[in-house]
Amino acid sequence: MIDAPKNLTRNILLGMFIGFVVGAILFYTNFLPSGIKQFIETYIFNLGSSIFVNLLKLLIVPLVFFSLVSGISSLTNMTSLGNITFKTVALYLSTTAIAVSLSLIVGSIFKPGSGYSSNIAPPEKLPQGQGIYETVLDIFPSNIIEAMANNQMLAVVFFSILFGLALNKTNHLTNNFSESFEKLNTVFMQLVIMIIAFAPIGVFCLIGKFVIADGLDIFQEAFKYVALLIAVLFIHAVVTYSLILKIFTNLSLTTFYKKMREVAIFAFSTSSSAATIPVTLKTVQDNLGVNKNVASFVIPVGATINMDGTAIMQGMATVFIAQMSGIDLSLIQYIQVVILAVVTSIGTAAVPSAGTITLVIILQQFGLPLEAIGIILAVDRILDMLRTSVNVTGDAAVACIVANSEGLLDKNIYNK
Ligand code: ASP
Repeated sequence: MIDAPKNLTRNILLGMFIGFVVGAILFYTNFLPSGIKQFIETYIFNLGSSIFVNLLKLLIVPLVFFSLVSGISSLTNMTSLGNITFKTVALYLSTTAIAVSLSLIVGSIFKPGSGYSSNIAPPEKLPQGQGIYETVLDIFPSNIIEAMANNQMLAVVFFSILFGLALNKTNHLTNNFSESFEKLNTVFMQLVIMIIAFAPIGVFCLIGKFVIADGLDIFQEAFKYVALLIAVLFIHAVVTYSLILKIFTNLSLTTFYKKMREVAIFAFSTSSSAATIPVTLKTVQDNLGVNKNVASFVIPVGATINMDGTAIMQGMATVFIAQMSGIDLSLIQYIQVVILAVVTSIGTAAVPSAGTITLVIILQQFGLPLEAIGIILAVDRILDMLRTSVNVTGDAAVACIVANSEGLLDKNIYNK
């Protein structure tokens, strides 16, 4: 195991706090000439955060490729691959279904949209998502370079598994070539550590960029929608994940949440599960003791298809918009929302605001007014940050459960 920089979490929290303070001072006061303010916003916050997110993204494809190939190619028991795949997908889909249901229930009880009228203008152009057909087809790339260049994670995972299997079968002919992938994987893990050493500065820029642009007033519009959504995100992150961890494992919950802090902060500041992959992978392997073979499959797949936080937003937004427009959804329609949200969350890209794009698909399905998406977008920035933290926490919880059930979780590392 490679050592991480000392006091990293504390320093990241500090970076976050200073980013908030500096961003807020610049947003709310005018003591600096606007030219200097503009300079700080562009060349410190925007440039700094883009550089940091680029560096994280830079690692995703090679990291996933080398770790999956090295894992699969050294596998001696292939049935465990099938079991891991089945458990992972089943858990991802069911936790997402629980997430939307929770949000629909809370939304129907507390009615965020009744009596609400907005003066927000509808967006000029509606965000466009892709359908189920394209999502499925995207798993099977016709050109791996293109898939890698576009960060299409499911395609990269699919190819890495195939490549790993072929490597596994030919190891005796290639003088154990799979060992080279093992070594490359170690090198890339070291790169992750080198880049996250800059996280305190990166997070400072990301948070500063957000606050300097929009201020801290997250409740400008649709107060009840925002408050209920945050409540459900919190309940799901704390109650649902604790329950499934308790039901399927005997692991300490405090340890899990404590060790996940850093990953949650990364997801919060980047609003992207994909950009967070390197940190999630490192944390579940090095701090939660999940075996590399399990982690390198479960985490990238989770970042792509498992979006509980996103599904919660979509459920709440659907209820909110339906109530606002005086449309009553029937029980059957509620069930359809659950199914649709589970399916669309698979097709939602793990990048900022992607969830609002797939929300359009759901609204369209039920004939709900698409213009209302303007209100959702107006308050989406901070909600996106929060739901992305929930998304990645879900990925890690499932990784722990799957690894534990296969006897592939090192409890010594977990409890350390
Ligand atoms: N930002 C989210 C993620 O990357 C996706 C979304 O809900 O917009 O996980």
